[in-house]
Amino acid sequence: MNGEYLPAERGFISVRTHAFAYGTGVFEGIRGYWNAETKQVYLFRLREHYQRLLNSCKILRMSLPYSVDELIASSVELVKRNDQHEDVYQRPVAYKSNEIIGVRLNGLTDDYILTSEPLGDYVSTGGLRCGVSSWRRIDDNAIPARAKVTGSYVNAAFAKTEALQNGFDEAIMLNHDGHVSEGSAENIFLIHNGEIITPAPSENILLGITRETVIQLAKNELGLTVHERQIDRTELYTADEILLCGTGAQIAPVIEVDHNPVGNGQVGPISQKLQNLYIDIVRGRNPKYLDWCTPVYAE
Ligand code: PMP
Repeated sequence: MNGEYLPAERGFISVRTHAFAYGTGVFEGIRGYWNAETKQVYLFRLREHYQRLLNSCKILRMSLPYSVDELIASSVELVKRNDQHEDVYQRPVAYKSNEIIGVRLNGLTDDYILTSEPLGDYVSTGGLRCGVSSWRRIDDNAIPARAKVTGSYVNAAFAKTEALQNGFDEAIMLNHDGHVSEGSAENIFLIHNGEIITPAPSENILLGITRETVIQLAKNELGLTVHERQIDRTELYTADEILLCGTGAQIAPVIEVDHNPVGNGQVGPISQKLQNLYIDIVRGRNPKYLDWCTPVYAE
């Protein structure tokens, strides 16, 4: 917390904190994977996560006194200090910390917190049932989707709650034009006629790091053509396969949308291949992609 290592029970912030009242924070979710063979925790794509955090800070007019390399080092150090030998989830948060009344972004002080805790699956990875949400994804001109802003997760929470209350596992959100945007905390991919399609960056999506990973794996490992474009809602009903992906969700195949089976209603072969590749890579078992994995303990 602001450069100090503290036990979690001493990690307090004031009830008058600006970010608490106004949602003026930005954050990341980072996973680390335990590998029992190498007795190692590998933190996945740390550099990309911290670069995105600093971009989110820029959009919210924040400046942190840390470089990407220092932020990476603090992630590694925190797993060590916690003596974690398990799968971990880290949450860096930069936020407006002034104890003042007044909604704005400029002229405020910025604080920083990083936490590290154990975490299993965030959503099922064995086949999700999704519903298209009646809640639209917030537009870039309302709260920028490419910044991971704490306050914008109220939008995600509305969509997820509606989905769960309607008996689905997860929501798929459309943007204001009615095009497919993303899940409540995941990017989305469709597979149709052997090609892979995902909403373009301008569709009010978070520029996901797992999304970028899936694009690389689809092209380089499976030899597929990847299209980043606008996607209509009804393409969800004709796709051969659909998957959601994110740091929390990992690779989560979708087997049903609005009660329509996706393909034959089973996890499809391309989704399965991507999931297997991803799981091997994040656990540091694929030498080709080890530079995405930061080992915590001395090798
Ligand atoms: N979209 C939203 C809204 C998210 O919260 C997340 C999770 N960070 C993602 C997409 C996936 O991003 P990433 O792969 O970088 O975790």
